[in-house]
Amino acid sequence: MTARKPFVRKQYWNEPTMGVWERLYLPEILRGLAITSRVFLANMAKWITGRKGALTTYYPEETRWDYAAGNRGKHILTRRPDGSPQCIACNMCATVCPAKVIEIDAGFNPEDAAHPKFPTRFEIDYSRCIFCGLCVEACPEDAIRMVKEVPNLPSYDRGNMWIAREELLSWQPHDDVAKPYPPPPARSPR
Ligand code: SF4
Ligand code: SF4
Repeated sequence: MTARKPFVRKQYWNEPTMGVWERLYLPEILRGLAITSRVFLANMAKWITGRKGALTTYYPEETRWDYAAGNRGKHILTRRPDGSPQCIACNMCATVCPAKVIEIDAGFNPEDAAHPKFPTRFEIDYSRCIFCGLCVEACPEDAIRMVKEVPNLPSYDRGNMWIAREELLSWQPHDDVAKPYPPPPARSPR
């Protein structure tokens, strides 16, 4: 039988260096409790005297005022000037979505030669969306964008957290028109 090697603790490059007080453990526990209690009591005093606690937002009654300027919390579908969806139901956004929360059913309009496919159903499950923006990046048509608003979605039922085509299309439709197609190149006379 071969003898087992003695266990050697691995040394990590970022291993914390602890002083005597930290190694004693209890003083640090008490220090942490003191900090937590101080913040709790300060917030409690503000609450009792009718002022707002330091960091708490009472969602959903309140929405945070300090979202970053670049926050993107809501999807929209853009429209063409005639009001039809710019989306061509190519499914690229649904394919790239890492959370797999976009569902699209495509329709076909043979009379529209330029873009015969369109979405008859376009839904996003906001209970699982991670707001990564990859759907926006992947879209070849500028048909889906994200705006800074946050939808009012709290619910006890996850089924209520799906947002469907009509809501995605009707959110600020005039502010978010699709980019127009570039004009077709002029044909040279033969
Ligand atoms: S933001 Fe990300 S997770 Fe949400 S629908 Fe788009 S690709 Fe999917
Ligand atoms: S939103 Fe864009 S990527 Fe998604 S199906 Fe429509 S055209 Fe394709």
